[in-house]
Amino acid sequence: MQENIIIADKGPTSQTGSWQQQLSQAVRDPAVLCQRLGLSDKWLPGARTGHQLFEVCVPDAYLSRIAPGDTGDPLLSQVLPLDDEALILPGYVADPLEEADHQPASGLIHKYAGRVLLIASPNCAINCRYCFRRHFPYSDNSPSRAQWQQALDYLRADTTIQEAILSGGDPLAANDRQLAWLVGELEQIPHLKRLRIHTRLPVVIPDRVDTLLLDWLKSTRLQKVVVLHINHANEIDQAVVDACTRLTQAGATLLNQSVLLRDVNDSVTTLAALSERLFEAGVLPYYLHVLDPVQGAAHFDVPDSEARELVAELRNHLPGFLMPRLVREIPGEGSKTPI
Ligand code: SF4
Repeated sequence: MQENIIIADKGPTSQTGSWQQQLSQAVRDPAVLCQRLGLSDKWLPGARTGHQLFEVCVPDAYLSRIAPGDTGDPLLSQVLPLDDEALILPGYVADPLEEADHQPASGLIHKYAGRVLLIASPNCAINCRYCFRRHFPYSDNSPSRAQWQQALDYLRADTTIQEAILSGGDPLAANDRQLAWLVGELEQIPHLKRLRIHTRLPVVIPDRVDTLLLDWLKSTRLQKVVVLHINHANEIDQAVVDACTRLTQAGATLLNQSVLLRDVNDSVTTLAALSERLFEAGVLPYYLHVLDPVQGAAHFDVPDSEARELVAELRNHLPGFLMPRLVREIPGEGSKTPI
């Protein structure tokens, strides 16, 4: 279990260049990743195997929060490919949430009443090894403007839909011109009230929260909720805190969802530190997901019984408003299922 908590607080990161430049310069080679992090050669074959299944992608702003040479670093575990990813195990599948069954239009997933999910970008700024969409057919879900019209028509026709959720990939990997256009179309649909954005980009490259993004976010009439994906307190350095402040000032409510991951955050101390650090950054813990059983990520799994015990003990350490809800997503269910 990982108890090594180093709250990174180095002031704004010293990254230079726009977020697009930072993303284009992300580490995408397993050998470079190992070399940059001072890992011995024994890690490289596994990193290459995992990379072939799901490519490495780690921007510098995130890499700089990983302690070189520390193979137990909880941020390293999230980005370093391993041999284990090649294991084929019963119960671990390519599409654990069966999302392919809920796509009435390209780029649109409608699973829950009152809300729909739009795949606003097929790209991510980081490739998380536990990702439940690591096998998602993004090439079939990168709509052109004409195809977006079909998704928008679907939303216009269903007056029960009150919330549009921008997802991906990472929706903020799309450029602001595209996002401003899409949000402009959404806000003209009278029955839509809320815009929710699920993103890891403000954590991975805090400079993504720039003026262009804040401009369209501020100007929409839709209520705004940004759900960040942060799994460990060490992911929140001062640059991330500053990015969160900018989002809040633009009128967004900030929530966080984490995934319970073996050797990343599977201890009461680590989860309590995460909730405390999130609140310092102006973010409320929302969900703690158990792992979706995606092929290649079984080594991250924490059994439900252990997850329940952890969360029961966590209640003895945190006020209720800092307690995330422990949930699982079950295909076909009308909402997340509490565990
Ligand atoms: S940012 Fe989210 S969608 Fe992208 S790889 Fe990580 S977990 Fe998956």
